[in-house]
Amino acid sequence: MKRTKHLLCSDLDGTLLGDTAALAEFSRRWDDFRRRTGAALAYVTGRSVESVTKLLDETPELPWPDAIAGDVGTSLYLPKELAWDDAYHGSFKPTWDRGRIESIVMRHSGPERQGEAGQGPLKSSWYWKHAPRASLEALEAALMLAGLRCRLVYSADEFLDILPAGAGKHSAVRRLAERFRVPHASVLVAGDTGNDTDMFTVEGVKGVAVGNAHKELIKALKKAPATHMLLARANHAAGVMQGCRFAFGEAFEPAAARSKS
Ligand SMILES: [Mg+2]
Repeated sequence: MKRTKHLLCSDLDGTLLGDTAALAEFSRRWDDFRRRTGAALAYVTGRSVESVTKLLDETPELPWPDAIAGDVGTSLYLPKELAWDDAYHGSFKPTWDRGRIESIVMRHSGPERQGEAGQGPLKSSWYWKHAPRASLEALEAALMLAGLRCRLVYSADEFLDILPAGAGKHSAVRRLAERFRVPHASVLVAGDTGNDTDMFTVEGVKGVAVGNAHKELIKALKKAPATHMLLARANHAAGVMQGCRFAFGEAFEPAAARSKS
């Protein structure tokens, strides 16, 4: 794969999605930026890859990405090559035991299993409104005690995803930077909720939390170096554009704006 200068890893729901006019503007800007610089775009989302491809068919404003990291970063698909990244999945498969994970979660009161569409090959998903931190910790401890190497990602005060240990949006961003041969300093991550926090922990990357971001993400970002993180004023796709200007600088401005300055 040829070297790319910039990489944007963006969440979809609540981040790029939510304002159709802003998304259309983002799409125009991104296409221009990609044409000039060869930048790569990846969607890093809780949705399944199938759900993202369906969304792409239904949403003409959404640019076609170079990669889709679905199921909270545990399924990696390269649409232009029509290829799954099996080496990436293979690194997590040996430790994954859905049956045992589910039987332990079901012994706890609170979590309710999401339907089949919410489950991923390497993701077990549950609804759990207002889960107390102590209950989440108790569940994590029970899974660990059973020898299951997995991690809990709790988001938007409602969604619980259980993933293989070491897997998630952070490992997807690392893998994408490697595949597109982009140094971390030229990677921008964009998100709006707790399950995006993971992406911002990748060493050296720049990040933008959109203006409508949940408190859980903003709180986590305040701990990161300010030179690398932007809390955008604008919401949704307009916030992502502010992030692109912050991370990619003048290169992201359209040609007309650049020639004026
Ligand atoms: Mg989101």
